[in-house]
Amino acid sequence: MDWEQISKAAYLGSIVLFVLALGGLSHPETARRGNLYGILGMAVALLATLVFIEGNYALLVGGLVTGGALGFVLAKRVQMTQMPELVAILHSLVGLAAALVGFATFLDVEGHNYQGAEKTIHDVEVYLGILIGAVTFSGSVIAFGKLSGKIGGKPLLLPGRHFLNLVLLVVSVVLGVMFIQQSAAGDGGGLTPLIIMTAIALVFGIHMVMAIGGADMPVVVSMLNSYSGWAAAATGFMLKNDLLIVVGALVGSSGAILSYIMCRAMNRKFLSVIAGGFGTTSGGSASGGGDQGEAVAISAEETAGLMGSAKEVMIIPGYGMAVAQAQHTVNEMVKVLRGKGVNVRFGIHPVAGRMPGHMNVLLAEAKVPYDIVFEMEEINDDFPDVDVSVVIGANDIVNPSALEEPDSPIAGMPVLECWKGKDTIVLKRSMATGYAGVENPLFFKENTRMLFGDARESLEGVLKALDS
Ligand code: NDP
Repeated sequence: MDWEQISKAAYLGSIVLFVLALGGLSHPETARRGNLYGILGMAVALLATLVFIEGNYALLVGGLVTGGALGFVLAKRVQMTQMPELVAILHSLVGLAAALVGFATFLDVEGHNYQGAEKTIHDVEVYLGILIGAVTFSGSVIAFGKLSGKIGGKPLLLPGRHFLNLVLLVVSVVLGVMFIQQSAAGDGGGLTPLIIMTAIALVFGIHMVMAIGGADMPVVVSMLNSYSGWAAAATGFMLKNDLLIVVGALVGSSGAILSYIMCRAMNRKFLSVIAGGFGTTSGGSASGGGDQGEAVAISAEETAGLMGSAKEVMIIPGYGMAVAQAQHTVNEMVKVLRGKGVNVRFGIHPVAGRMPGHMNVLLAEAKVPYDIVFEMEEINDDFPDVDVSVVIGANDIVNPSALEEPDSPIAGMPVLECWKGKDTIVLKRSMATGYAGVENPLFFKENTRMLFGDARESLEGVLKALDS
């Protein structure tokens, strides 16, 4: 066996490891193992590429060390609440890499000698790779801005935006034909349509994500995840690298499945999310509107009294739990309550927090037992039998206006219907709205009480009262 065969076998091995990683990541109990498979797969892939490639090793190792060090420092420094932004900006780098590789392979005429149909196929690969890469890059940068709060969550709805998108699409197709014809003619032709298309793709990516309403961001995050996979696959085609093609396709298709799951969770059609501005066209009541009455506050001691004497407690965590880093205190409280014979369960909304699986990751980190953590669809019918629902830093995912107000920006999104239980206690710092910017009538219901303050501090108070 020569080196080439060995590295091909290594590629195959790392593909198997990536598939195992995806399988492992599908459940919190196996996620750690999944991560390990992924790390191992990437290590094997890098080694095999190093051995396989004939080129400038100093440049390659320099790139590896710089990229690795940057990634290490970023991942070490990032707060758990900033994770979604980090993921978005990393997606943008995959897009940028695909676009740059596209230009590099196009300009490197000496690196290959394609003729006839082979050349046309290669040009199509380059064109599509740059197109997907540029859309992924600019779309992910805007998503980063929106997730980090640097850009407002409100959708930007330009007049005639669907027409504008259609024009951009048609122009891109025409430019594609021009590019292939000019490139086939030789003499380095085709660069001008390629550059114009790149500019259009960048504008399209910005416009697409700017038009997305706040609550629909989870679909966009998973969609950009999928695009970054297809961008990597396109790079694989351009570089004739089987591993990149397969891994890109794995990421692309798993991201597409995640987008589908997110759409189902939000009760949205994929196309209406992508078209943008869903639910914001008819002057919907983003602020809830009307006099809602007064919210009633409760103390930590009273909360402990209600929970301690309950039979069924449902905990609903949201983004605020991540901000307050309250998961460990939550786990301590659950232990005490269970010790008192209270049946405690967790209800997890699919878009709670700021990234898919955000709450599950936090609860797993705090070692909350998996068998008391339930998905929304498993427990949403049980609320009439729940004595106390404790909403920890959640807002949009428990907003009844999603079901009751057809004009609301979150209309149609299934929510955890905690108000159907006996009592609901909401832990948050103020009456501020959540990510979607929608007022929440739950706070004003007769059987709702507000425990104001930072979620961790409030829970520490509850825990103290429970212990005494
Ligand atoms: P929300 O953003 O709706 O609400 C979070 C609430 O937490 C806020 O109202 C805030 O109120 C409160 N809060 C913040 N910090 C603290 C703290 N330290 N202590 C106590 N409370 C705190 O979050 P949800 O989880 O309910 O819903 C998720 C939203 O994010 C949805 O709209 C979803 O579409 C969107 N989204 C989800 C993504 C995903 O993939 N999961 C990705 C992108 C967006 P206050 O300031 O008064 O304390």
